[in-house]
Amino acid sequence: MSYQQYELTIGWLYPKLMSTYGDRGNVICIERRSQWRGYSVKVLPLDQSATAADIRSVDVIVGGGAQDRQQEIVMRDLQGAKAEAMREKIENGTPGVFTCGSPQLLGHYYEPGFGERIQGLGILDLVSVHPVENVRRCIGNLVIEVTATRLARDLEEMTGSKAYLIGFENHGGRTKLGKVEALGRVVHGLGNNGEDGTEGAFYQNAIATYSHGPLLPKNPFVADWLIQTALRLKYQQPITLPHMDNTLALEAREAMFKRLKVSIPSVTAAKV
Ligand code: GLN
Repeated sequence: MSYQQYELTIGWLYPKLMSTYGDRGNVICIERRSQWRGYSVKVLPLDQSATAADIRSVDVIVGGGAQDRQQEIVMRDLQGAKAEAMREKIENGTPGVFTCGSPQLLGHYYEPGFGERIQGLGILDLVSVHPVENVRRCIGNLVIEVTATRLARDLEEMTGSKAYLIGFENHGGRTKLGKVEALGRVVHGLGNNGEDGTEGAFYQNAIATYSHGPLLPKNPFVADWLIQTALRLKYQQPITLPHMDNTLALEAREAMFKRLKVSIPSVTAAKV
């Protein structure tokens, strides 16, 4: 099948409620990087009007960040058959990138700064708690080394070097991991809780992270990993994405690493 015939449906979790921190940029990045390769792309909002069948129909899922109040509204809707469909998708390996407020809801629970505990879907073995007031938020640039075994291996294969991600965090909640793998090790910033040096989580093909930015335009090889993983699962073929010139994005990363005085091996532009 030539690549022009590939189709990709992006499921976007609650766009109106979970876009407070600009994570719509992750949807745009996957959409454009697929279109630039000639694939046809559909973006399907997975919001209150969506059904469980809609959730099952998508090839890759993007969930953004949100304020506590919006997270509570989302969880009132993401119940029953819809929650079951989300669980099935992630357990069956549908790739996704879930930022901040989204992974908090994929965990067992999120205790917001004010109000009742929000029960999560329990798909990711983690819990998040917003500490009592007057504790500063985790805000600032974030650099991590990807340590999730399979993802680190895949990204190193794609880029030719160890994978480091750069982004921006802005969260009150602190996350503690259970048996789930961390996405990475904090090199600069605070990450899951500012104490244990972990950032995010990785489960099946779901990337959970505190990194806004948005994450994907700043780390385009992760967008390509999501697209490639989605196409391989959908078409059951060992698809490798055609190369794209990422020089601009890679130069922007280098500029940020320099500004943050973080010395890491540069990604060879030729590889991604
Ligand atoms: N409201 C959650 C918190 O403060 C999530 C914030 C976010 O999505 N950036 O931790």
